[in-house]
Amino acid sequence: MRCFFGFLRVWVIDVFFTWIRYPSFMAVLDTSALLNWPIERCRHQIVSVLQQSELNRVDEQRWLLIETLDMDWRTATEDERQIVLDIASKTGDLPRLSDVDVDLIALAVSNKTTLVTDDYRMQNVARAAGIEVQSVVTSGGTKQWKWVLRCIGCRKTEDVASDARRSRSDDVKECDRCGAPMKLKRV
Ligand SMILES: [Zn+2]
Repeated sequence: MRCFFGFLRVWVIDVFFTWIRYPSFMAVLDTSALLNWPIERCRHQIVSVLQQSELNRVDEQRWLLIETLDMDWRTATEDERQIVLDIASKTGDLPRLSDVDVDLIALAVSNKTTLVTDDYRMQNVARAAGIEVQSVVTSGGTKQWKWVLRCIGCRKTEDVASDARRSRSDDVKECDRCGAPMKLKRV
């Protein structure tokens, strides 16, 4: 019996100090937070179901560990995602956002909570949506910016169209004046 209470006391102290170190607010975590944060800190946070296969692909050991945690796995609804797509097309970040990125921002918007990410495009869209952003490791700036397309040939610039091809590669389209590739540029 004494042994049991000894164990209980240690457990209570342990939980208390974990709670002191990591105040239990529910934030939305991107995959780099799931990879880099202490495992205890990830517990109970909001994550996208779409991250599961990504995490499994990047670091299988980590995924097996995360899978055992009591995480709040969710997916955003079509309407919630559409709000993010609209904002991202205005800021010009849309062509570079993945489905996982869009889902995570939408979850932060719909739950009115903090988004934890080091991805500056996601940070930019989240801030434009009025969402608080926290960095995983870097101390991110709070500056707001916009993306434009600039031709590498004739230097013509134009706004990023909302129907622009979404890709992680640099070439979004060709210049309609000279035919050279147009690259995304921060202004
Ligand atoms: Zn051109």
